[in-house]
Amino acid sequence: MGLAQLENHHADLICPRCSSPVTFERDRVWCTHASCYYSEHGFPFVAGIPALLDFERSVVSLEHLTQSAGSAQIPREAPSSRLRRRLISLVYPPNYQAMRNLPRMLGMLRETAGPSRRPVVLVVGGGAIGTGVDVLYSTNDVDVLGFDIYWSPITQFIADAHQIPLASESVDGVLVQAVLEHVLEPSRVVQEIHRVLRRDGLVYADTPFLWPVHEGPYDFTRFTDSGHRYLFRDFACIDSGVVAGAGMQLALSVEMFFRSLLRSRTAGAIARLAVWWLPHTDRLLDPRHSLDGASSVYLLGRKSETPISPGDIVAYYRGAHYTDAT
Ligand SMILES: [Zn+2]
Repeated sequence: MGLAQLENHHADLICPRCSSPVTFERDRVWCTHASCYYSEHGFPFVAGIPALLDFERSVVSLEHLTQSAGSAQIPREAPSSRLRRRLISLVYPPNYQAMRNLPRMLGMLRETAGPSRRPVVLVVGGGAIGTGVDVLYSTNDVDVLGFDIYWSPITQFIADAHQIPLASESVDGVLVQAVLEHVLEPSRVVQEIHRVLRRDGLVYADTPFLWPVHEGPYDFTRFTDSGHRYLFRDFACIDSGVVAGAGMQLALSVEMFFRSLLRSRTAGAIARLAVWWLPHTDRLLDPRHSLDGASSVYLLGRKSETPISPGDIVAYYRGAHYTDAT
């Protein structure tokens, strides 16, 4: 496994409120800035990992976290039966873009780091292994650091992405998959990603566009491909495009329509199974047309010091509206 030991990265941890270094003492983590609230109260360990959250500025409450021993705010059980797992893989085709782009990103990170240093990849919202990103966790020459707002066996600390408790320029790459729709201020989170990345660091983001609400009260926003590109305006775009296209979007709409019409999640799930083949047609669709109706989009970017301009974003458009496309 590429999972990093947190001890190796203690020096990179900072207080999420005042950005001062922290120390580990008496089963708590303490901010070293004398006038900071957390130098007096410290941060708790929850289920064995530190919770480096500024609770006054987060959707996460200290009471919930400590009373529930770090369990997720919403149920997150993995599908229990084999039949259920098979049905899920039938209606969700593999994430081919992540399967193609993660090895690409890792190759570029190894090249930049050179033979003497292990690149560090931070997984923002890394409580569960995302789709098509297994290679990151099976690679031996990369350190993977992950955090989420709940405890997980594959994360090293609990934190809020609006205040990442890591020193500036301390990681080489960031993976943020199906996360930015769940944060209140995506621009702030992307600024944080930019801050913690070293010079020329890479980000891989995979974010829904026309995807129904999921995770209920923790789902806040969506992005067109251009909106997603502009969100990452402080990055040079290496590649971007459709993850799941108009076929997946139509299947999800069929499910939501029958769920609403018949007032039943089960009815929605049955309707979705009846159109199981629709998402599998995404690979046949024209990427430009599909982008305008995509259910999710991706961006592989390199940290830049010069943001793109509002004019650049108009020129960036990759879809098929008002162009010479038929
Ligand atoms: Zn502090």
